[in-house]
Amino acid sequence: MNLVERELTREDIIYLLNSEGEEQNQLFIRANELKNNYFGNKVLLRGVIELSNHCRLNCLYCGMRKDNKELTRYRIDNIEKIIEIAKVIKSNGLNSISLQSGDDYSYPISTLCKIVSNIKRETGLHIILVLGERKKSDIEKLKLAGADMYILKLETVDKIAFKNLRPETSFEKRFDLLKFIKDTGYETSSGFIVGLPSQDVEDLADGILLLKEFGINNASVSPFIPSDCTPLSSLPYGNLNLTLNTLSVMRLVLGKINIPAVSAFNLLDTYGQSKALNAGANVVTINYTPPENAIDYIIYTTNRHIVKLMAAKDLLDSEGLESGLII
Ligand code: SAH
Repeated sequence: MNLVERELTREDIIYLLNSEGEEQNQLFIRANELKNNYFGNKVLLRGVIELSNHCRLNCLYCGMRKDNKELTRYRIDNIEKIIEIAKVIKSNGLNSISLQSGDDYSYPISTLCKIVSNIKRETGLHIILVLGERKKSDIEKLKLAGADMYILKLETVDKIAFKNLRPETSFEKRFDLLKFIKDTGYETSSGFIVGLPSQDVEDLADGILLLKEFGINNASVSPFIPSDCTPLSSLPYGNLNLTLNTLSVMRLVLGKINIPAVSAFNLLDTYGQSKALNAGANVVTINYTPPENAIDYIIYTTNRHIVKLMAAKDLLDSEGLESGLII
């Protein structure tokens, strides 16, 4: 397909998502060219602290689901300790911090707000929240406290699959919350998991078009990783090529937005994150969760790939990329 500068139709997108061989190479080259036009060889590094692996939900794919009794649960709520980590992130030259957790309603909103306001006051870092479906009033309080962006992945746009995979909630509720997040003044981020049961390329195409219509500021795509101690543990891994194709198509359709090369790519392929950076991604997240907790922040249960600062720098060096992209 000739990727001329024109609005891609749903049919174009489906065609590109299915591309293989030389056509796939052309797709990656085009997405990478676009990324280079927008950002040069600069990559945005984000630091993440995983605050809690408690979760009130029972999502079938996630190792943190409430019914996983094998998991040692933790909650880091010592404000000073978190501020110290934020200062390390700042001193490492990063300008963005992500606070992530399960849907942990027992994590007090007052503590979260203090963490956000103190990080802002003491470091000035750009603050990203990945805290799941919290109450709208909590979302407002966290914005007032100084948070900048909220990541709420739609995971899949197939409403029936969504209900099966996330029984306590619904697609409509999650999408409504994403709209509320935008209306509250946050930068927004969303995205999908590739390889969930009953998902097809049409769903991915519809999802990408929905994010475009929504006006999303950041987007991500991860391969499905079958996680031990979940009902989906025996399913196959998400397909690497389809996940990379989805990333490239997101770049083509969504334009100048931030798209991470998520660590899960490296669970499918030793060079998975490099491939994602060459297929249109411009963000790498570095893990700053204290190691004694990081082993229990188990989305994928057994074989977590934890990216530390040196590994991220090596990754960038090997691809001729540089850190330091400012938001
Ligand atoms: N509770 C928060 C954060 C969840 S963890 C929320 O719901 O937003 C962050 C992301 O991990 C999720 O959005 C989901 O896309 C991803 N994830 C969880 N389990 C996964 C799996 N088995 N394979 C791939 N991605 C997974």
